[in-house]
Amino acid sequence: MTDPKQAYDVIILGTGFGGAVLATILARHGKRVLMIERNTHPRFAVGESTIPQMTMGMRILSVRHDIPELDHMSSAMRIRKHITSSCGVKRNFGFVYHRPGEPQRPAECNQVGANHGDDSESHLMRQDIDAYYFYTAVKYGAEPRQNVQVTEIEIEGSGVRVHDSRGNVYRGRYVVDGTGYDSILARKYGLRDAPTRLRTNVRSLFTHMVGVEPYDDHVEPRGAHRMPHAWHQGTLHHIFDGGWLWVIPFDNHEHATNPLCSVGLQLETHKFPRPEGVSPEQEFRDFLVRYPSTAAQFAGAHAVRDWVSTGRLQFASTRCFGDRFGLLSHAAGFIDPLFSRGLANTVEVNGALATTLLAALDDDDLSAERFSAVERLQQNLIDGNDKLVASAYIAFRDFELWNAWYRFWGLGSFLAMFRLRSAKMRYDESGERRFLDQLDDPPCPGRVAPDYPKFNALFETAVAVVAEVEAGQRSVASGRDELFAMLRGIDYAPPVYPWTDPNLRSSVADQAAVERVKTWVATQAPTDIKQLYFDVKTHAWLDSAPRDTTHPETQP
Ligand SMILES: Cc1cc2nc3c(=O)[nH]c(=O)nc-3n(C[C@H](O)[C@H](O)[C@H](O)COP(=O)(O)OP(=O)(O)OC[C@H]3O[C@@H](n4cnc5c(N)ncnc54)[C@H](O)[C@@H]3O)c2cc1C
Repeated sequence: MTDPKQAYDVIILGTGFGGAVLATILARHGKRVLMIERNTHPRFAVGESTIPQMTMGMRILSVRHDIPELDHMSSAMRIRKHITSSCGVKRNFGFVYHRPGEPQRPAECNQVGANHGDDSESHLMRQDIDAYYFYTAVKYGAEPRQNVQVTEIEIEGSGVRVHDSRGNVYRGRYVVDGTGYDSILARKYGLRDAPTRLRTNVRSLFTHMVGVEPYDDHVEPRGAHRMPHAWHQGTLHHIFDGGWLWVIPFDNHEHATNPLCSVGLQLETHKFPRPEGVSPEQEFRDFLVRYPSTAAQFAGAHAVRDWVSTGRLQFASTRCFGDRFGLLSHAAGFIDPLFSRGLANTVEVNGALATTLLAALDDDDLSAERFSAVERLQQNLIDGNDKLVASAYIAFRDFELWNAWYRFWGLGSFLAMFRLRSAKMRYDESGERRFLDQLDDPPCPGRVAPDYPKFNALFETAVAVVAEVEAGQRSVASGRDELFAMLRGIDYAPPVYPWTDPNLRSSVADQAAVERVKTWVATQAPTDIKQLYFDVKTHAWLDSAPRDTTHPETQP
């Protein structure tokens, strides 16, 4: 175990996006890394819709570790140029509310922009993205083993031994588990919290299809929703009491080469228990009949692979780190595809873990205590995401409640994004790495707004208000009114978005929004927000921020 020529510094189990990106970073720093994968790349994976915290997070990791390939994920155009043409564009988050047995009401929808001129967030064809990062890790020196079944893992004071079904024994100093839901180490050490502390209780059916038509083509009259962007240009969420359906097209731009569209239906288990003897495909078709306005875009659609029908999606772990081992984000816990936070959490945890692990290897201190800050981050991400998502499912019972609740997600996301952008801007202006390193150590790690406790307190109160609606202690109208009153009562929400007007249901971060924010910073913004996000060269920051401009494809 002590022979440095034979032992790896880190053995990574599972080489999805999470494992491969971490392997790349560790190998880039000269660590001896072994990657063990039970499949062979490219292989199917879900987790396809990106958010700015994730793409900006990859850009920051790229700078911090001097790995240009990590920046290739930071926008749709970069992905197309450097990785693959098989991904779609995500120019908006679209939410369209449906009632059973009724045509959709055009006033009941919301849209949040994710468009930057020609560029945007992305719909990831994960098999291609994951393969790219697996090969990138190999390029930087990580050793690959694919199609390998791990049979045993021994973790002792002096090191780690991983056995495979071919009789090989790999020795290392530390083992990282990136095997996701079916985490090997969570099973070995009984790390799952059971019964789980999580509130969200949802199952999922998903597949890839061909022939899914733009929802916009079936809205009567066309453009009736009066939204800034076409729905098909973004991740479309058909939401309803008890669940939601994702539509994630990969063929939604002029350079598209991939005809597939990802489709996934989430159902609260107590409202929609799994029907006996009904195939997932039939369950999906039955859903389309129940919510008639969802059906037309799938009339000519066919699945290209078997539907996956899951049990409850949510899981968490009582702990994620032990002596000489750690779990990546998706091995530690998962809540729901809603709000697309899985990969963002993966990137955030990978960033904190990489820094901690590199230093711990150098110090030869691989104890659980050394990773306590990353443990806290993971646990807070899981719990915060659970509150966000569980409250959204409660809000789905009534469009007006949802129309209030999703603004808390939006505001929290803007603050989290401002945090990353301003850190990067400060680094660009000064060349001082501390602005990026500080991201590992915010006052509220893993919270919705990691460096702004005031918002997190507001968020907790909003979660409690929504819970009162669920418990029958408040009417829906009272909950909705209270949420809007709370938003009206704060002075720190940058006016990117019409936070407090229920009738304004969409946002675009266009030039007008930038000008609004500039004026607000100059005249009204509280000092703490200015210091956090806008103190240095405010206008340079805002002027360089990506913004929404009209693009022919975006027109509804
Ligand atoms: C239904 C659903 C929808 C989602 N949608 C989104 C979304 O829209 N946006 C988003 O950001 N996130 C989403 N997520 C979350 C996202 O999928 C994860 O955050 C992401 O896949 C994590 O990457 P990973 O590499 O850690 O894990 P995974 O992608 O799960 O990769 C695990 C890897 O480990 C390998 N493996 C498994 N077991 C073993 C073993 N015993 N030995 C060796 N190798 C093994 C697997 O083959 C795989 O390659 C979604 C998740 C689900 C379940």
